[in-house]
Amino acid sequence: MVSAESFCSTSFDYLILGGGTAGLVLAARLSEDPDVVVGVLEAGEHINEMPEINVPGMMGQALGNPKVDWAFSTVEQEAVLNRKIFSPRGKGVGGTSAINFLVYQRASEEDYNAIEALGNPYWNWKDTFLKYLMKVETYVPPTDPKIAQDPHIGYTTDYHGSSGPVKASFSAWFNDLHAKFMDTLVNMGVPINRDTGNGRNIGASVGPISVDPSTMTRSHAATAYYTPNSHRTNLVLLTGAHVTKILLDTPSGEPVVATGVEFLKDSQKFSVRAKIEIISAAGAFQTPQILELSGIGKTDVLTKHGIETILDLPVGENLQDHLTLPFIHEVPEGSETFDSLRDPAFLEQQSTLYKNERKGLLAGSITAYGYLPSEKLFDSNGLLALQSQMLQDTTLTASPSLSKQSVLIKKWFPDPNQAQIEVLQFPFFLSFGPLPERREGKAYHSIMIIGLHPLSRGSVHISSADPLFPPSIDPRYFSNPADLEIMVSAVKFVRKLMRTEPYASAGCKMYDPPEKSAVSNEDLSDDEIRDWCRTRVISIFHPIGTAAMMPKEDGGVVDSSLKVYGTKNLRVVDASVIPLEMSTHPQAAVYAIAEKASDIIKTARAR
Ligand SMILES: Cc1cc2nc3c(=O)[nH]c(=O)nc-3n(C[C@H](O)[C@H](O)[C@H](O)COP(=O)(O)OP(=O)(O)OC[C@H]3O[C@@H](n4cnc5c(N)ncnc54)[C@H](O)[C@@H]3O)c2cc1C
Repeated sequence: MVSAESFCSTSFDYLILGGGTAGLVLAARLSEDPDVVVGVLEAGEHINEMPEINVPGMMGQALGNPKVDWAFSTVEQEAVLNRKIFSPRGKGVGGTSAINFLVYQRASEEDYNAIEALGNPYWNWKDTFLKYLMKVETYVPPTDPKIAQDPHIGYTTDYHGSSGPVKASFSAWFNDLHAKFMDTLVNMGVPINRDTGNGRNIGASVGPISVDPSTMTRSHAATAYYTPNSHRTNLVLLTGAHVTKILLDTPSGEPVVATGVEFLKDSQKFSVRAKIEIISAAGAFQTPQILELSGIGKTDVLTKHGIETILDLPVGENLQDHLTLPFIHEVPEGSETFDSLRDPAFLEQQSTLYKNERKGLLAGSITAYGYLPSEKLFDSNGLLALQSQMLQDTTLTASPSLSKQSVLIKKWFPDPNQAQIEVLQFPFFLSFGPLPERREGKAYHSIMIIGLHPLSRGSVHISSADPLFPPSIDPRYFSNPADLEIMVSAVKFVRKLMRTEPYASAGCKMYDPPEKSAVSNEDLSDDEIRDWCRTRVISIFHPIGTAAMMPKEDGGVVDSSLKVYGTKNLRVVDASVIPLEMSTHPQAAVYAIAEKASDIIKTARAR
């Protein structure tokens, strides 16, 4: 481990701000060239041996732990009863890939092509994403015959990688409600999709997870990209280093030059220089924070905090996120979910099984997904009504970034190939919101619905010129009423699912919403469902878009080479650059973007 002093005296070619999902891809790929020296500054620590990170069945348990989670909250969200919504972010080597829910899936071809359609040549499925998604992964189909025979699992080699750093495998444990949930989806007309990795994700599927099947431990940016390369003398990581500012030179008439950064370590201020480039990879909330603290952002935001504007760009705008609603069910006696591990004797038995054989609940994860187009959610009248509501919505054309995006969202809305809602079975009590306490000794599972193409847009900005203050996160959830209407239709879908066989007779008991509540009552009005959605909705933690890769005139912050407009050598590479939410969980896309960015940066140096 280097000291801050020795880090600062190193002659770096590249400095990477944030050692998370994208940052460590860049660190590994750029340092492949022994002639360049790469420095990574990460605010958190490098924690190797934390079961809540490494053991799949313990996913979610690191959330809220300040050692590994920034544990942010949004500001009060007006359209969801002024609630502040929990917004965790990974802190430490590996970033959010170390604390996420392990879902390792791909979106539809259209979602990737949308990035090109928004003004970024070649950022499409065929030329970029398929190639780099394959480069990232080693895809390992299940070997356990019980799991390999699941009718929802398939594998097309044409679409998967076999030698990438991130291991994509399958849960070693399927709970006994898995098959019932999947069969019910199929009975509701959702087709089986055995491999969602081919750019077509509609259907009922078993998703891969970011787990190394040889050890049944989490495969994340640190284990995949950092640890195998940490011996390189030209790759230097400093942990506990909180970047506070990028140092910018402003030669007159020329693009701004990033020369170095300032950071705090153990409350002491340091500065370090970079000869070629600086790359911010601090994530969708903190990349905007670093840029604004450095004088790159909206002048009104910067002036409010006494910061001189060096580049006036819509940093922190265009914030989008995926919302979710959990339906929590008490599972029948004898059914096991991760909640069963709360019984100490059962936990001990499962720990022994996991330690000796890498099997059982602790080697398990989320398994059952359905990606649904709007035709599964609305009848033709409902579809037309919502479409016309979207068309009349003038807020969609008011912001330059949203006007082009909303053309795509509106086009996708009736498209049978484009998912609007994801339903998935979480084998535990998902409780980040205002939920009733669980009953002692009971096990639960949660059917989650996720809205995939939100129209609501918000922002993240500094709340203070003090870099240690958390940013002000305002996603303006449900500010566009269409997002709520889509959720209402998804609630109806799940209520129907609960009455459809074989799920209907699986013996699950509704816990939240309670059995006798309006939401479980078949006669309830849409207004009652809307109220329940506003009370219960939470984030599923996929913020993107806050330093969007788009043309400048459309509200972009970086160009299609990920360079910040008006700068010579400052790039952003993380979830902030994704301009539009995709119809899946984002980590695989973030890895792929960072792989492509590494090639762009290498090519730029070679010129
Ligand atoms: C609880 C949770 C569950 C999720 N589940 C899934 C899932 O199952 N599947 C999926 O695909 N996606 C999931 N996601 C989302 C996904 O993991 C993220 O979108 C992705 O990992 C983001 O990568 P990133 O590189 O943009 O940022 P990060 O991985 O968050 O990296 C940013 C890094 O920068 C560091 N940093 C921040 N500020 C500073 C600073 N000032 N100085 C120095 N360092 C700094 C941070 O500590 C962090 O290490 C989940 C997210 C959460 C929070």
